[in-house]
Amino acid sequence: MKYSQTFIPTLREVPGDALIASHRLMFRAGMIRKLSNGLFVYLPLGLRSLRKVETIIREEMDAIGSLEIKPTVVVPGELWKESGRWTSMGDALLRVKNRLGADLVVSPTAEEAFTSIVRGELSSYRQLPLLLYQINTKYRDEIRPRYGVMRSREFIMKDAYSFHTGDESLDEHYQAQGRSYRRIFKRCGLTVIPVKADSGAMGGAGSEEFMVESEIGDNTLLLCKGCDYAANVEKAECKLDYSPRFSEDIARGAAANTPPMEKIDTPDVKTIEELCAFLKTGAGNFIKTLIYRGVNVELDLSTAPGCKNLSRRRPSPGSPEIWDEAFFAVAIRGDLDVNEAKLAAVLKASELTLAADTDVVRITGAPVGFAGPVGLDTVPVVLDQTVTGMNDAVAGALEKDRHYRHAAYGRDFTGWLTADVRTVRAGDRCPLCGGELYEKKGNELGHIFKLGRKYTKAMGVSYLDENGKTSFPTMGCYGIGLDRTLASIIEEHHDERGIIWPLPAAPYHVIIIPIKYQGAVKDACDTLATELETAGLEVLLDDRDERAGVKFNDADLLGIPWRIVAGDKSLAAAPPRVEVKRRSGGEPRLMPLREAAGEIAGAVHRELASFKG
Ligand code: ATP
Ligand code: MG
Repeated sequence: MKYSQTFIPTLREVPGDALIASHRLMFRAGMIRKLSNGLFVYLPLGLRSLRKVETIIREEMDAIGSLEIKPTVVVPGELWKESGRWTSMGDALLRVKNRLGADLVVSPTAEEAFTSIVRGELSSYRQLPLLLYQINTKYRDEIRPRYGVMRSREFIMKDAYSFHTGDESLDEHYQAQGRSYRRIFKRCGLTVIPVKADSGAMGGAGSEEFMVESEIGDNTLLLCKGCDYAANVEKAECKLDYSPRFSEDIARGAAANTPPMEKIDTPDVKTIEELCAFLKTGAGNFIKTLIYRGVNVELDLSTAPGCKNLSRRRPSPGSPEIWDEAFFAVAIRGDLDVNEAKLAAVLKASELTLAADTDVVRITGAPVGFAGPVGLDTVPVVLDQTVTGMNDAVAGALEKDRHYRHAAYGRDFTGWLTADVRTVRAGDRCPLCGGELYEKKGNELGHIFKLGRKYTKAMGVSYLDENGKTSFPTMGCYGIGLDRTLASIIEEHHDERGIIWPLPAAPYHVIIIPIKYQGAVKDACDTLATELETAGLEVLLDDRDERAGVKFNDADLLGIPWRIVAGDKSLAAAPPRVEVKRRSGGEPRLMPLREAAGEIAGAVHRELASFKG
């Protein structure tokens, strides 16, 4: 391809809103342009690299037997009402009406569409497992699109969905997807960190996210210095700093040594810090109690305190009871924080927020700041497991300006449910090996997820099993963002002059720069380009009437892996030579013109193969 015949509008200026390297470089290299906030157009150069990523993903999906289909991007709103996500998806879901007034959705993801397609076709266990995917446009009405195509409103996702008769088959494909993701990112030249991830209200079946380390990452990852434990903070666990044995001892009366619990005046003391100062003790001796409001809670609350005040509904036969709204008190050691993602998973709540002050007053009978687990019987009390190791604690007394001290778990209070809901932090101990955990910021590129039967039950997808019994298939879903993957490649591979493409994602393999595109130089470059293209390489020939310096700068900005420079002087040597240089570094070297095409084509093919290996 001749540079003059393509459309690569490079820029020296950086757009003001481009805060990260990939955003700046995709603009400056003429890969993308902005149509509107969160809406980007790929120009020819950008599209070439995006297609490379797409091809890698497609090859790896095909290799594990996933079958590509092409659903529509606009889907009937009815399907989203069936799954319940018409409302639960909130404002990220772009809802539109057609001329007949029918509700439509611009797909942000496609569980509903795939489930609906499979529902129409599935009848027998013999058709399972069914492994399907698409590489297609998605739209999410992100509140704050940012960092260019890293977080845009319209983007392309590879999303795969699998349907199985049982857990074993699901697990097998889930593992295959995980291995395929590792190959995809390796072929893209990316260093990814697979982490254990939250599987939300849908149960703990399993979920893994593929992260790249990033300063602007929205995710906090916890990694172990001693082993390969890695988890999103939304899921991370740590070694309990009180052993369960200790708490059993307490329950059996070890608290007998603790003085009797007493109520004390704590005038004008509200925060934990104020309380610490007032009682001259550390936050670890306090029980912090927060009131939460859960929505769509799937936990069985029929035996819980305050249950009679809850509303409930049954969405479909065979599903567990869902409580529209339920309040909980969550007690945790005062030096720790509640992790809302972990708590939501424990409560199987689709949404969780801190209760409004008026609800806190109604539930605790006291102003905000005096909640505690002792004597609290209006809502279920969830204890973080750290609290079960507290045998001499300070806690709110459900009265204004009053606290208890010497409160002991098992003696003075218990909870309705004990769970691990703390936010794990750097310095905590690894749950596997006890090593020290440290934190990194990460950006999510892909996600694999065991969904279970949530969608197939809600949407009535069934088949007859070997015994002729009606069953619901269990599902998995597996997504990768193509645009974000592309931007992340640039984040990992660039310098102050521009992009440094890993060969498999490069828009062209080779750029040929004639110092002046005329005479013998022109002939040599044309021949070289033809030879390279015949050998299967993608070549950009910079035939522009620009100064050599401008062409060199643009070549560095574009990041094409191999650069060949041809000028009168080296071509006049015996034998005629060209200068060859890698964008990734190393000195330029002179190569006989005759050998250049063969040698470079060989090197490119070997290198491309090495990414697949
Ligand atoms: P995030 O937490 O970053 O919003 P998500 O968990 O909502 O992502 P998924 O629903 O798991 O994302 O979607 C799968 C993939 O789609 C993500 O891993 C990411 O690569 C990509 N993706 C999601 N939202 C966007 C977006 N707004 N812009 C670009 N890519 C996106
Ligand atoms: Mg995700």
